[in-house]
This record gives sequence, structure tokens and C-alpha cells, in this order.
Amino acid sequence: MNIPQLVNTQRAYYHKDLTRPFDFRKEQLLKLKKMIQQNETDIIQALKADLNKSEFESYTSEIGFLYAEINLILKELKTWMKPTKVKTPTSHLGSKSYIYKEPYGVSLIIAPWNYPFHLALAPVIGAIAGGNTIILKPSELTPSISNLLNRLISKTFDQEYFAVVEGAVEESQELIEQQVDLIFFTGSVPVGKIVMEKASQNLTPILLELGGKSPVIVDEKANLDLAAKRIVWGKYTNAGQTCIAPDYLYVHRNVKPELLSKMKQYIKEMYSETPLLNEEYTHIVNHRHFKRLTPYLSEGEIVIGGGIDEENKIIEPTILDHITWEDSVMQEEIFGPILPVLTYDDIDEVISQVRSNEKPLAFYYFSEDQQNQEYVLNHIPFGGGCINDTLFHVANPYLPFGGVGHSGIGKYHGKASFDAFTNAKSIVKQTTKFDFSFRYPNTKNGLTII
Ligand code: NAD
Repeated sequence: MNIPQLVNTQRAYYHKDLTRPFDFRKEQLLKLKKMIQQNETDIIQALKADLNKSEFESYTSEIGFLYAEINLILKELKTWMKPTKVKTPTSHLGSKSYIYKEPYGVSLIIAPWNYPFHLALAPVIGAIAGGNTIILKPSELTPSISNLLNRLISKTFDQEYFAVVEGAVEESQELIEQQVDLIFFTGSVPVGKIVMEKASQNLTPILLELGGKSPVIVDEKANLDLAAKRIVWGKYTNAGQTCIAPDYLYVHRNVKPELLSKMKQYIKEMYSETPLLNEEYTHIVNHRHFKRLTPYLSEGEIVIGGGIDEENKIIEPTILDHITWEDSVMQEEIFGPILPVLTYDDIDEVISQVRSNEKPLAFYYFSEDQQNQEYVLNHIPFGGGCINDTLFHVANPYLPFGGVGHSGIGKYHGKASFDAFTNAKSIVKQTTKFDFSFRYPNTKNGLTII
């Protein structure tokens, strides 16, 4: 595909102003929803081929989310698109102030492989709602989904409005060199930095949805049974290949044995005694990532798991105890089904340790004590998270989703997606009925009636 030509074609299409009206945006959102509905079986099959995702996980974490997001936006979009009237100070007497919601123009969306369908289309919903044209680059590491997205989108939409560019680093690099009007990137921190550097050359507005090491902390006053169940679910869903998965566990010394014992029990319940043979358990995306993860299994002490199947790229849900910050498993985002455990006696140690790292994308804290909850919430910076749960904040479309600093720049989902893909244009509408002469230099009279 000729990428510069695609950008020019989309820009020319954007300048026809066809993407702006509410009816057009609504029609595209409905088309997108129908496209997903009519192809659920193919989507589930492609996710199985790329990641061995189960039908249950495919529906709950890839497809269902998109319907909820489209439905909410369809319901609210007309209101969001209207210019918003805001207050005007008395110094501006006679005028009125508004915020107009303007599309950016040509938007470029670059997607990762871990939720390859969801994370490609969730920002697309925002881009359509905002009235932009769209160039989508899915991840090359999940070729079945990339291919399916290309096939379905090119059948459903005109390329001059919404096009898919398949490819790897080379194509992605060519895309980020183009002068587009907005870049929405989801992926790793190092690639995020490359994309931001390129965007800076054209001063292109950019959103970065990145990753990092997200902690889960279990206080001695936690409901341990629920904590164990919800941590196991949040960590091992998608075999830990979730940007907001708990990366490591910090547990109070007094409750550690009980928590770990309950977590072992839930791992067995959710993934069976033999996860390597479990047809429903997600595989590691490729051999490079498999080989990146397996050395971690020799660190600390294995509480449960540790088994691998190299041929099929499977790693058992694993808990590693007696880990320290010096271990290599604590140096990078794990992005796999391995959970290192650190022990604490005083929450202030944890806070100072977490604050000395980059600001995480997600944060989870389990405690029945509300004062403790507020204390950690007010002392640890992070993108978003839960008290007494994991992952759940991502599925509430009323909560803006995104990171802070190294875990990302900008938020989306629901209204935040509309805002992310919209330029808030501030307007003062001034009166011509009178004029205050004192605002001009060298004028003696106060008010001039016209
Ligand atoms: P990645 O950065 O390797 O790739 C993401 C996309 O960038 C892909 O489409 C890829 O083709 C492209 N790309 C790769 N190298 C590039 C380069 N040099 N120049 C331009 N484009 C390039 O990320 P990934 O491995 O696909 O995803 C995993 C990472 O993404 C993890 O760090 C995870 O935490 C993060 N993530 C974040 C979120 C979020 O919402 N914040 C969601 C999912 C994943």
C-alpha cells in the first residue's frame, strides 16, 4: 500500500466535511457494531489461532467490551457533540463563551497483540465518534486477527474514510513519519518513545497507552479469600498478557501463608491441576516472548506452577515466592503468567518502594480498612485501579482509562474517548451592542453604546 497516498486521500476526504455530521458518525458506529456481530465466530476463531484464547475470554474481554462502548457512545454522542456553554467572567460583560468540539482530521491508530481485536477497535470507536478518518495498524504478532480486521474493514468501509495497513515495524515506521492529525498508540514503553519522538517532528497530538509494573498489595485486614480469587483471575486471564494485570504481589507478612495457600487453590479451580493440558488456557504469543519469560522461573522459590510446554508456548500459572527487587523478574514488565511475591511489614516501605519506580498503569489494593485504602490511594501515583479487585476499572466506560508518565499519556473509553479524538475549540462570542473603551490604549471614555 502507498502510505503517503493513503494519508493524502484521507485528508482530501476529511476536507469534504462528510465525517462531521452526527448522522454520519452514528451510521459508521452502527456499521462497525454490525460488522462485529455478524463475524463473531470468525473473530473467536482468529483469537484461538493467534493466542489460543477461549471463547469465554474472547467474548468477555475482546468483543463484549466493544458493544458496551458503542452503545454508550450512540446514546450520548449527540449531546457530547453540541458546543458547551461555559461561564464568562464579568470582565467580559456582554459576551458568551463556548467550547466547540472539532474533529482532529486524519487519525492513526497503532495496536498491540495482547487483546488484538479489542485494542484495535476501542480507539477506532472514539475516532469515529470524534468525526475523524482512520488509519489502523494492527499488530503483526497476531496475524489472523490483523488479516481478519483488514478483510472486514475493507469490506465495510471506504478506504478514504477507514483503512487498515497491515505490517510490522517497517510499515509502522512509515506511518508515524506521515503528517497525520492525531496518533493513538498502544504498546510498549520503548516503542512509545519512538512514536512520540516522530510525532514531535510534526507536532502531532499523541496519546500513548503503555505498560509497566502494576502492583497488587494485600493488607493484613483484607478479605483473603476474595483477594486470592480476584488476584488469580486478574493475573492469569490471557496468561498474564494484560497491560493492567497485577505484575507483582506485595503481601503483609502476617497473612502471606494463608493468601498463597488460597491462591494455589484458586489456580487449580480456574485452570485445573494440569494447566498445560487445559484447552481453555491462553498460550504465549510467540517463541521470542516464551524465551523471554522462562528464565524468570528459576528465580525465588516456586509456590505453584513452573511447568512449561515449549512446543505449544504454554507456561503454567506460576507464583514465585522469596523474590527481591534485585531479581531480574522485578526489572521489567513481566507480561506473562508469572507472579513474583514480596513481603512487607509496614505499608510505608511499600509506598516508598513503589514511588521510587515509574508510575504504574494500574494499582490494586485489598483491605477492609477504609482509612488504609484512602492512605494508599493518596500516596501512590498510577493510571487507574481497584480497591478489593483487579482489572475491573477497565470495563467501566464512565472511568477514563490510561496511564501517567511512563505508563502513558492521555485517557480514553466512553466520554474520554470522544474527548481524546476531539479538539476542544474555545470561542468567545462578543457583543456588538456596546463596547468598553477603557480596554483600548489612550482612551478616556468608559462605555460606548453602539
Ligand atoms: P509493541 O510496542 O512491541 O508494539 C505495538 C505496535 O507498535 C505494533 O503494532 C507494532 O507493529 C508497532 N511497532 C513495533 N515496533 C515499532 C517501531 N520501532 N516503530 C513503530 N511502530 C512499532 O507492543 P506489544 O508487544 O504489541 O504490546 C505489549 C505492550 O503493550 C506491553 O508493554 C503492554 O503493557 C502494553 N499495552 C498497553 C495497553 C494499554 O492500554 N495501556 C494495552 C495493551 C498493551
